[in-house]
Amino acid sequence: MASHMRNTPSRRPILPIGIAVGVVCVAIAAFFGIRALLTNDARPSSSDQAPVVTATDESQPTNDTAATEENSTDTSMDTQDDPRNAEFAVDPSRTDWNYETGDTKMVYLTFDDGPSENTQQVLDILDQYGIKATFFVTGINPEYFPMIRECYQRGHTIGLHTYSHDYEQVYASTDAYWADLAQIGEAVQEQIGYVPCFIRFPGGSSNTISANYTLGIMSELATDVVDAGYQYYDWDASCGDGADHTADELVEATKADTAYGYQTIVFLAHDGAGKASTVEALPRIIEYFQSEGYSFAPLDRQTPAPHHGIGN
Ligand SMILES: [Zn+2]
Repeated sequence: MASHMRNTPSRRPILPIGIAVGVVCVAIAAFFGIRALLTNDARPSSSDQAPVVTATDESQPTNDTAATEENSTDTSMDTQDDPRNAEFAVDPSRTDWNYETGDTKMVYLTFDDGPSENTQQVLDILDQYGIKATFFVTGINPEYFPMIRECYQRGHTIGLHTYSHDYEQVYASTDAYWADLAQIGEAVQEQIGYVPCFIRFPGGSSNTISANYTLGIMSELATDVVDAGYQYYDWDASCGDGADHTADELVEATKADTAYGYQTIVFLAHDGAGKASTVEALPRIIEYFQSEGYSFAPLDRQTPAPHHGIGN
């Protein structure tokens, strides 16, 4: 900006313009400072619960990202400059995965099967509560692909689920699986600039439906994806599928499925088409976890990866 000014024919106004710019900057800073305070006050989390975001545990670097969420939602961050790009890109040379749960109560909300018409509302609710989550995306509704970029820019992690979500097609052979993964990887790369290392198998690694198409395919893939630089995340608990249940049922399922009180919970929900009851239930699910003393974070390479028993 300054260099453009210096190249203009008249040099005299530079000092007054400098002062004016300074005053405007101070005013803008004051405005956003006040706004940030108001945003905090307006959050629905109640004061007697654990804070939504904690920044005390250095072993959870995602908290730092989460702590700056007001900024990330207010600015249109260029994904090319995002430090997560290098960290989260698939990289076969990195094998530093974590399978040990920590001693801090953490919930990693994950949303499968989007993006869809429900994703925007999920994002807005997460912003309301100041929570970062993870989206395992599909190619079911390509018209919503720009939402993948939107999710990422708002500070959420993007993972690969499947392009077609057609079990018969995806699990027809290992080659078919890899072709499907490459296809959703390309779609995500177009939105955020790289292929992420986080994946979730359709049906989870424990699915047995794949046995209808290729015997033993999950045993093979579970090893091969990690060798190829990916990590797969099953889940510790789920609210069930929003297409088949009411919001009340999803909330009750959440409580039932987390009754064992794990410290770390990778939690499965859905933001796919037709899963509007997930949107309806989400505030209550979040508030339930808050009342139980959990904080929230998006997946990163340090997140303990839950692996189900392989069923095929
Ligand atoms: Zn799915």
